[in-house]
Amino acid sequence: MSLLEVTGLTAGYGQARVLHGLDLTVEPGEVVVVLGANGAGKTTTMRALTALIPHGGTVTFDGAPLDGLNPAQIVGRGVSLVPQGRGTFSHLSVLDNLRVGAALRRDTAEIKADIDRWCEVFPILAARSGQEAGTLSGGEQQMLAVARALMSRPKLLLCDEPSLGLAPKIVSELFSTLGDINREQGTALLLVEQNAELALGLASRVYLLEVGRVVASGDAEGFRADESIRRAYLGL
Ligand code: ATP
Repeated sequence: MSLLEVTGLTAGYGQARVLHGLDLTVEPGEVVVVLGANGAGKTTTMRALTALIPHGGTVTFDGAPLDGLNPAQIVGRGVSLVPQGRGTFSHLSVLDNLRVGAALRRDTAEIKADIDRWCEVFPILAARSGQEAGTLSGGEQQMLAVARALMSRPKLLLCDEPSLGLAPKIVSELFSTLGDINREQGTALLLVEQNAELALGLASRVYLLEVGRVVASGDAEGFRADESIRRAYLGL
């Protein structure tokens, strides 16, 4: 059974429909990337999956539907989102941002251990723990956003364009950390990314979105090797 199974997903804004019946799956522990041009509907997909906007179709996670749940209930089921543009709570300290990520948990000692753990993985968070998140650099805020999302101990981490606006060196560090998290904890990743080369290096499977529809899907190696896909869709 797939960890995430999405069938006929539709969503939009007001009268404007953006997703036109999207099917996708993520297996337990898998890394899947959604590629597509600006406006293809990648962010809308992430928002629909986490109930930030309403959707049609069905979304099943870990054997039970997510449809009808609110965003907090979805986090409680084991799905956590790193939103586009970081989305940290800028007036809260780094430490309080991490605590907010664990808001649904009651295991105080384990929460503390997880904070220590992510501060080890992202040492800058330890160095800046008392500082307001809004005063961090873009790269530091992105790391905080990832760490905060992990504080709920998700089975599936959704990341919406984690590389956006970051220096190449920071991006490669971040992607390598995401790979470690996937390997070491078995956290499945569903990643939206414009940087195809980077994303295909991390993912095992790919969906290519065009105007709210999946126009191609397959394993990442095949995508990388396919000249016509590279030229037509990936800009490589
Ligand atoms: P990008 O890489 O630029 O973020 P994307 O693939 O994530 O692109 P979406 O952000 O999902 O694309 O946008 C898909 C479509 O929905 C676009 O045509 C966009 O203009 C429209 N859209 C996005 N957000 C809103 C909104 N809040 N209200 C109305 N339309 C929106």
